[in-house]
Amino acid sequence: MDPDTQELLKTIATKTDETEFYTPIPKGYKLGQTKFIVIFGTVMSGLGKGIFSASLAKLLQMKGLKIAPIKLEGYLNIDSGTLNPYRHGEVFVLDDGMECDMDLGTYERFLDLNLTKSNFTTNGQIFTRILERERKGGYLGRDVQFIPHVTGEIKNQLRHLALSSKADVIAIEIGGTVGDIENQHYIEAMRELAYEEGKYNVCFVALSYVLEPKSLGEQKSKAAQLGIKRLLEQGIQPDIIALRAANKVTDKVKEKVSMFSNVPLSRVVSMHDVDSVYLIPGLLKEAKIDEQVLEILHFDKNDKKKLNPKAEAAEFKRWGEFIAGIKDYKQQITVGITGKYTSLRDSYASIIAALEHAGSRLKADVRIKWIDVDAIENKKTTVKEELKDVSGIIVPGGFGKRGVDGKIACVKFARENNLPYLGLCYGFQMAVIEFARNVCGLKDAHTTEVETTCKNHVIDILPEQKKIEGLGGNMRLGGREVEIKKGTKAFAIYGNKTKIRERFRHRYEVNPDFIPLLEKNGMVFSGKHPKYNIMQILELPKLKYFIGCQFHPEFLSRPLNPEPLYLEFVKNCLK
Ligand code: GLN
Repeated sequence: MDPDTQELLKTIATKTDETEFYTPIPKGYKLGQTKFIVIFGTVMSGLGKGIFSASLAKLLQMKGLKIAPIKLEGYLNIDSGTLNPYRHGEVFVLDDGMECDMDLGTYERFLDLNLTKSNFTTNGQIFTRILERERKGGYLGRDVQFIPHVTGEIKNQLRHLALSSKADVIAIEIGGTVGDIENQHYIEAMRELAYEEGKYNVCFVALSYVLEPKSLGEQKSKAAQLGIKRLLEQGIQPDIIALRAANKVTDKVKEKVSMFSNVPLSRVVSMHDVDSVYLIPGLLKEAKIDEQVLEILHFDKNDKKKLNPKAEAAEFKRWGEFIAGIKDYKQQITVGITGKYTSLRDSYASIIAALEHAGSRLKADVRIKWIDVDAIENKKTTVKEELKDVSGIIVPGGFGKRGVDGKIACVKFARENNLPYLGLCYGFQMAVIEFARNVCGLKDAHTTEVETTCKNHVIDILPEQKKIEGLGGNMRLGGREVEIKKGTKAFAIYGNKTKIRERFRHRYEVNPDFIPLLEKNGMVFSGKHPKYNIMQILELPKLKYFIGCQFHPEFLSRPLNPEPLYLEFVKNCLK
């Protein structure tokens, strides 16, 4: 049992019968020592709460403050591993192997931080901890209740994060929309948090939505008002209101919202649609929301230890250069991405972001054409037709049978026509299968994931590696080292480094029995596991750019630091 739980058990067993207060406070934490910003969504989901939270956190980080973000998810799943990206957006993987919500990707990119499982929680995690403790007798004598036990557990996690991160500000994003059953206890916990931490330590932000019905041609604020009212009903008075809208929110609407929700006009900001999410920090800065937050949280503007205006100006300039790369592009290209979940751009959020980062660096506007592999498979179109106007192709990660033949056909086209190719995880495996079939002559080559009966399982699960690397029932997840072979393309792309670290999420891998044959025919495995025979990067050196990787490089791409495989891919697409 971890020391904290032990500590908790003592407190609960001795105190809960006598008092209504149940506030597990981790050892070493003093109430009021940390500042918290809490972001709620009202009216509807899909407002870009994660982007807003990340943008606000970015502005504070630029000022010199240390920020730790956390997302509190309303679902009962323990993590996002089993969620369908079509329903819930991409599954983002952290270095410690946590499979989490795509918003964590947004935080990592905006804040240029590597986060851990302490930055993400779900109802599933919270309830599991409570129920395990209950079985161990941790609440003897007490009925375990939403208030104070569940809310106490939530606050406990936040204070732990405050201790472990040593952050000046914890930015908390509450998943879902105010009014959902799933997040009621989160909202209550935030109310308690403000009560306990004391004045000026917690800043509440409500994100809302301003409608603009076509039939009226004007903005209407009622829905936003009602949404914010629901938050007030739960005892939360927002300090700041951000209004999402298609167009810039008019003064009239801002005034109405300000008036009905007791929030000064200077703290009601328009967060209207912009071309790129990276423009949001600029939008909020223009409205001086960062200054308002400092004021609300009583930061001393002359505190030189915490705030550094010179560094802030330099940071903002660097950010501006990145934005300029996006806006003032010199060239435009289209990249094809084969996607099963093509109807939802969120399913591929990190890939789209990685292309945007590389594009900004190269002053190129990288457009995306979603390639309908099902249509290729069903002969409704041909590969040639689908790929005729793209400068390069990406086959991203995926699972299962659907679309596999279409993807393999795209790989073949890229290889035969020297079209830049980037295969990500499943795309890496597809490249091996295609090469085995069409170059090495193993006509039935396949992956066991799709075809269990074929003779040539070039992609397989290996029993010995199942033991050592956690493959099989579980996926191989999180950050792992990759050893790069000197003299290869990958070696040059990664700046002559022989060791890098990348993020993985897979179950299958290249079957070592086939490696000699693949290599004899010209496939180079330029990245491997440092100890085991697991292939992690492949390339076809004769082609302009044909690279596959068993990992997901998009998870590591950052606005000011594009991931090298993406950067080089886009560079080659531009040639
Ligand atoms: N389905 C493949 C595997 O499990 C690839 C996974 C992925 O693309 N993330 O190995």
